[in-house]
Amino acid sequence: MADCLFCKIIERKVPGRIVHEDDDLVAFEDVNPQAPLHVLVVPRKHIPTLNDLAPEDDALLGKLFRAGARIAKARGVDGSGWRTVMNANHDAGQSVFHIHLHVLGGRRMAWPPG
Ligand code: AMP
Repeated sequence: MADCLFCKIIERKVPGRIVHEDDDLVAFEDVNPQAPLHVLVVPRKHIPTLNDLAPEDDALLGKLFRAGARIAKARGVDGSGWRTVMNANHDAGQSVFHIHLHVLGGRRMAWPPG
């Protein structure tokens, strides 16, 4: 999608520190990391919010989370603990309207989230 920041990173029109990519997903370092590990895993398919998921996206969401688990393992936080976050719409803090899985780790996390 022309105006979407994450589509532009996927298409290499905007620079991103890409750590993984395959036919369905691209993962890159968050530009404003909130933990020692903070990677965003995004589908190549432009889906604005979790409200827009369709039944045919079910497998894609599984791939998104499995990629997150692989990244956590590669960064050595699979055992110590890591967190995923997907914000949906403004009250949750979504600022980029192309769904993305935050993968956070490397420090103790608080609960409840702010
Ligand atoms: P959210 O607020 O859940 O929509 O998350 C959007 C995330 O994208 C934030 O954590 C931002 O720091 C991150 N972000 C914004 N611009 C970029 C960029 N150019 N490259 C990498 N991450 C970005």
